[in-house]
Amino acid sequence: MPLMQSISLMPPAPSDFTSRRRLLLYSASTLALIAGVGCKKSPPAVCPTSSLTADDLQVRTTLGYVDASPDAAKTCAKCQQYVPAEPCGSCKVVKGAIHPQGYCRVFVAL
Ligand code: SF4
Repeated sequence: MPLMQSISLMPPAPSDFTSRRRLLLYSASTLALIAGVGCKKSPPAVCPTSSLTADDLQVRTTLGYVDASPDAAKTCAKCQQYVPAEPCGSCKVVKGAIHPQGYCRVFVAL
């Protein structure tokens, strides 16, 4: 058997295993970083209202604003009045932070 063939049948040297392991680790961490950068910030279950006045809160209540729409086809994200932002958007009619999945009675479809 020629010498070159017998060498290629030998198991890889420990340094080869190390560089493969490093390559896999670098690849996995690079993919995780790309996935993390590509993710949007999720809105909270309820958008904050602490900065609103009592009158602003009353308008929200009067218009029936809720952070979770009862109808998936009618959400703030699908309304003409919605101004998107992360994590909560705003509205041209209702003051304060508006949840993209929210709803109120003056909903206007896009
Ligand atoms: S008008 Fe009502 S449904 Fe439309 S974005 Fe504003 S709060 Fe949401």
